[in-house]
Amino acid sequence: MKTTPHVNRLLIAGVATAAVAGSGIAIAATAHGSNGRSASTVGANASVQAAPRYQLPFSCGQSWRLDTWASDHNPALDMTREPNKPATEGSTVLAPAAGKVNMSFWHQNAGNVIQINHGGGYFTTYLHLKSRTVKVGQKVSLGTRIGYVGHTGPTSNGVPHLHFEQGYDYNHDGKVEWGYVTRERIKASFDGKTYTGAGKTWHKIKSKNKCAPKPPKKYYVKTKAKAGGYNSPTGKTRVGWLNAQKNYVFCSAKGRSVTWSKNKSSWWLKTDLDTGQVNKYVSAAYLGKGGAQPKDLNGKTIPVCK
Ligand SMILES: [Zn+2]
Repeated sequence: MKTTPHVNRLLIAGVATAAVAGSGIAIAATAHGSNGRSASTVGANASVQAAPRYQLPFSCGQSWRLDTWASDHNPALDMTREPNKPATEGSTVLAPAAGKVNMSFWHQNAGNVIQINHGGGYFTTYLHLKSRTVKVGQKVSLGTRIGYVGHTGPTSNGVPHLHFEQGYDYNHDGKVEWGYVTRERIKASFDGKTYTGAGKTWHKIKSKNKCAPKPPKKYYVKTKAKAGGYNSPTGKTRVGWLNAQKNYVFCSAKGRSVTWSKNKSSWWLKTDLDTGQVNKYVSAAYLGKGGAQPKDLNGKTIPVCK
């Protein structure tokens, strides 16, 4: 090859024919399944359902290089690990959103292939995997391991990388076309950011797949008396105390009515007790502000607990 090691355009027009012919078994097994049907019906009726908020298909915190290559490869992406490129081979591939596996098979040109149906007509496709760890029909969640990055199939050019495609099932046949230029291959987005356009490269894109959730936002309030803590806003068995002082709370919730010093309120505040456990509830009556939805010391309404 006269090209640089990075220039590994994987799927050319010739693969398209092979993709259709060679993957006949997998296509037959899925396209006529009940799942494929219902997905396409939903797609047709729901007009435009928002795409899933995909995450990179790799472990939280890993950095990856994304390449679109030329217009016969874009909007597909080739992914290699950075800064440790040799670690690409064998890296774990994770589901980028919840869904159901609708293809998992060996393809003579693309190697190990997986396709996931994410619902609403949205699909993702993975090529050249070293191995596959999910079967057709299997449900996956965000972060479920589906396989390992490899360089299987001649169109990988022997270069370890993940060839990744996002797709939309325009013709409602319960799958998306992949591996060649087609309307059903769509721009790829991760964590709300789009990575598309021929000849583009992005370096060190960090995966946020299944990262630990951010700590909850804290709102500061002042409780004017020592307040009893309860397991829920309707609970009647006191499980601890919140001291009369400036305290942080997480959110508000409706519950049973409490009166303290002429302040009657059915609002409660989720907080960590001073005596007792975390994530318990105290009555907002102790803020001494009456019965309206409680506000923090900055006058900001404390949102309802989700
Ligand atoms: Zn590729």
